[in-house]
Formats: sequence, C-alpha cells, structure tokens
Amino acid sequence: MIHLNQVHKSYAIGKNRMDVLKGIDMHIKEGELVSIMGSSGSGKSTLLNILGILDNYDSGEYHLNNILIRNLSQTKAAQLRNKFLGFVFQSFNLLAFKNAIENVALPLYYQKVSRKERNKIALEYLDKVGLKEWAHHLPSEMSGGQKQRVAIARALIGKPKVIFADEPTGALDSATSSEVMDIFKEVNKQGITVVIVTHEHDISAMTDRIIRLKDGLIINE
Ligand code: ADP
Ligand code: MG
Repeated sequence: MIHLNQVHKSYAIGKNRMDVLKGIDMHIKEGELVSIMGSSGSGKSTLLNILGILDNYDSGEYHLNNILIRNLSQTKAAQLRNKFLGFVFQSFNLLAFKNAIENVALPLYYQKVSRKERNKIALEYLDKVGLKEWAHHLPSEMSGGQKQRVAIARALIGKPKVIFADEPTGALDSATSSEVMDIFKEVNKQGITVVIVTHEHDISAMTDRIIRLKDGLIINE
C-alpha cells in the first residue's frame, strides 16, 4: 500500500539547507494499524505530509497503491487524496461556525452531494463514533474527545483506504486518548489502513507495529 524508498527531504534555512528526512525506507501493508514514533522535531509531520501528498520530497520514491507519487500537480494530488486518504490532526481542524453534522458532511459538499443526502450519510458516520445525539452541536459545545471523534467521522465519510493522523491525541487527556484510539482500532478492523504519528509511548503501544524515526532515519523497523 505504502512504499518509501530512500526518501529525502530538506528545508531551506536562509542560505543553508536542513536535512530532515535522510533516506527513509518504509513499507506499510494494506490493513495495518501502525504508529510512527519519534521525539519532537524528528520529522514525523514532515514524513506524514509527504505520505498524505500534502508536500513534495527531494529525492527517492514514494508509491501509494502502486502509483508513483512525485511532483504531482495540485489537481492530481487533490484527486488522489480525495480518493484514497483521510486526515486527522491534533487541533481537530473543525469549522467553528458549523455544527457536527455539517462538519462531517463537508467532504460530500465538495463532491456536490445534495444537502439532504449528505446530512443523512453524515448522521450515520456520527453514529459510528457514538455522537448521533451531538449532531446539531457546535464544536465549542463539545469536549476535545468529542471534537476528535467528529474529525474522525469527517475523515471516514470519503471512504478512504488510509487514514493519516498527526498527534491525534496530543490535545487530549489519557482517558480520552484511549477512547479515540479505540475508534481508530475499530476503523482499522473494517479494513482501513491507519497510520498514527505520535511522540507518546502509551499511544504507540496501542498500535500493531511501531516505526521509529530518529535523526531523519527509521531505526529497527
Ligand atoms: P515533528 O513533527 O517530529 O515534531 P517536523 O516534521 O514538524 O517534526 O519538523 C522536523 C524539523 O524540520 C524541525 O526541526 C522543524 O523545525 C523543521 N521544519 C518543519 N517544517 C519546516 C518548514 N516548512 N520550513 C523549515 N523548517 C521546517
Ligand atoms: Mg509534528
């Protein structure tokens, strides 16, 4: 599903360049639940942004579902993201002035699904994450854990093959983090590949495999 071969990425810092990823080799099979672990600044988000086709890399090869992902146009990248990928972020990224059902339905709005139909489907997805009763509440009326469940429902509504989550429990207490991890496990059981970036050991311990990132390289995979 995901194949990285000697992927390098550096950032320009004034006249210099800082190497962040120094030759990443990584394989994730369809249906896996994996975490990418590393300390703060180790390049986890950089790596996840490449995997999610949100950013380019300098050299090497990235294949997603046997498609070479390299220097794609914005349109092509967006097409592949919409077709294959779902995203969950630490800060939830919900629209503050839209209620839960409208937030979850948003990807279908862009697919030009009618309001009635998309709200019906969104309610089904809210039900899957245990938030049917919260459909008409705004994010400001919800706890952090509830907001992240809304974000997961929104990520699922496009029927992705892979979910990428960048520190999804970073803003949550440990009890709520476990609840959110339970949802990822449930999602994974339905056959969706789940890749979670974290710097927390107890979070990575809840995944089936830990990929460790250190000094721009994968160690002991
Ligand atoms: P992590 O997610 O593991 O904390 P990041 O991938 O965010 O790490 O960052 C890795 C390193 O790259 C850090 O030193 C960070 O400051 C730097 N970095 C990240 N994004 C950029 C950018 N857009 N421009 C310059 N440096 C960046
Ligand atoms: Mg990060």
